[in-house]
Amino acid sequence: MIGDLVVYPVSSELAYVVERDCRIELTTTPNSCTCCTFRFNSRHQPGFRCRHIEAVRRVLGLS
Ligand SMILES: [Zn+2]
Repeated sequence: MIGDLVVYPVSSELAYVVERDCRIELTTTPNSCTCCTFRFNSRHQPGFRCRHIEAVRRVLGLS
């Protein structure tokens, strides 16, 4: 549990992320995420990391 996010690692490259107060399950890797924040921002900012990506990277020990 990172903040209000629950991270379920699937492999070293993939995890499912669920917001505690939301039923939507996101599929997140260290470099991409299925949330709309990532999809919107990554078009304008290459390398953008949403908070789900940051959480996954922490759980996977990448940052
Ligand atoms: Zn995200």
